Amino acid sequence: MSVDAAALVALAAELPAGTVLGRDDDLSGYEKPWRGPAGRAAFVALPADLDQLRTVVRWAVRHRVPLVPQGANTGLVGASVPGPDAVAGVLSTARLIGPLDLHADDRAVTAAAGVLLSQVQAAAAPHGLELPIDLSSDPSVGGLVATNAGGCRVLRHGDVRHRLLGVQVVLADEDATVLGDLRPLRKKNDAPRLTDLAVGSAGLLGVVTAATLELAHRPVDRATALLLPAGPLPELATRLERGLGSALGALELVSGTALRLTVQHLDGVPDPFPGQSPERVLLVETEGEDAASILLNVLGDLEDLVADAVVLPPARAWGLRHGVSEALALAGPVLGLDVSVPRATLEAVRTECADVVRRRVPGAVLADFGHVGDGGLHLNVVLPPDTDPLAVDKLRTDVYRLVGRHGGSFSAEHGLGPANVGWWLGHEPAAARATLAAVKRVLDPYGLLGTEALRAAMTQEATP
Ligand SMILES: Cc1cc2nc3c(=O)[nH]c(=O)nc-3n(C[C@H](O)[C@H](O)[C@H](O)COP(=O)(O)OP(=O)(O)OC[C@H]3O[C@@H](n4cnc5c(N)ncnc54)[C@H](O)[C@@H]3O)c2cc1C
Repeated sequence: MSVDAAALVALAAELPAGTVLGRDDDLSGYEKPWRGPAGRAAFVALPADLDQLRTVVRWAVRHRVPLVPQGANTGLVGASVPGPDAVAGVLSTARLIGPLDLHADDRAVTAAAGVLLSQVQAAAAPHGLELPIDLSSDPSVGGLVATNAGGCRVLRHGDVRHRLLGVQVVLADEDATVLGDLRPLRKKNDAPRLTDLAVGSAGLLGVVTAATLELAHRPVDRATALLLPAGPLPELATRLERGLGSALGALELVSGTALRLTVQHLDGVPDPFPGQSPERVLLVETEGEDAASILLNVLGDLEDLVADAVVLPPARAWGLRHGVSEALALAGPVLGLDVSVPRATLEAVRTECADVVRRRVPGAVLADFGHVGDGGLHLNVVLPPDTDPLAVDKLRTDVYRLVGRHGGSFSAEHGLGPANVGWWLGHEPAAARATLAAVKRVLDPYGLLGTEALRAAMTQEATP
């Protein structure tokens, strides 16, 4: 059903000029996700405070207009934009940027949903604090919560769920009910925390309007090295963990192909192992006092498992690691597969995945990388231009199947979206899907929140 034009004009009239953009405005920035096909929005609403946001939600409920919450639009599974039919509006939090309150004594920050991760870091830094969520993107606080983002420091500091002390959510009911508690309390067991449901909810259960997140003291020092492993990854990871203890900050993988493409496509990223063409490189980071000497000592004990190592300034090592996604996008169309597996299966999964890629799409290259310290792998594939979408679908299915066979998850940290909801529909136990659908009916009684493919999945019967 299309959105009633007169009703939209009435909404725009209730709000400050420029809050509601219509189809005559340029909506393209809100319709194209970072990866995947563009959608078509009926309109875009850009509320600047809680009252304005509730006005939009009440209006949408009154007129039964679906809304897709959108933060910084850096999500990688297509969930932040509407489907192709212009039947839903985008509810953007780009202007929802106040408050940003730093609670230095409680090592926490309360920020509105539209505040960017970089802005949280800038506010925390003068207090010697940081949010230890480190991504190669600059997402919004609301997006971080709604995707339960992970990133490079999960091994040491956990994902967003672990750092979330409080959240405020607006429900899509007649009153646009506000739920939640933003106090910076680490302990509060007076009831089940209903708003924890917002974590990883992909915009389906409520609109996150603000969150309180636990910060960490910025380490006095950080040191990084790139290693050429000479033995199995799981054994190396375990030995690094034992040797480095709480000094271990991150343990990341860059496959040889990802390394080659990154050096080739990005300026200012030199090859750390010229002439060696490694099959894989590990980035290891230590943090805290004596970070560099602790790292060097432990590397000295790992000669049986490490063929070569270079110690680099953190900015250079991370420049390479964080540059991978951008470089792959420059190399060609990318199929991004964000999986996690038990660490013991990392080697087998990488090998089997390379076989599947070769078989399914000749000419495609597996350029995997990711957070191997926590079992996370981005099994990204650079595809030849004009690859048959059917072949891509089959490749995705084969990879998810092999990951499942090894006890892994088809979505490690990017969440649920049109890109992977088909697998979820076919493999999530029917009871779990029915329970989630029931929760959605309570929190979003008219089924208005989230992108079309996800809303449809919530109401679909289990496929045999
Ligand atoms: C180069 C690159 C590297 C990345 N690396 C990582 C990584 O290492 N780890 C990782 O976890 N992710 C990574 N991501 C993915 C992405 O940055 C995260 O998923 C991020 O948390 C999305 O936040 P956003 O503000 O951009 O949300 P959006 O993309 O705008 O939205 C994502 C989802 O959250 C929902 N949503 C957004 N805001 C709200 C809100 N206020 N209320 C309710 N729902 C909302 C949307 O409806 C959608 O379902 C990367 C992305 C890029 C482009």
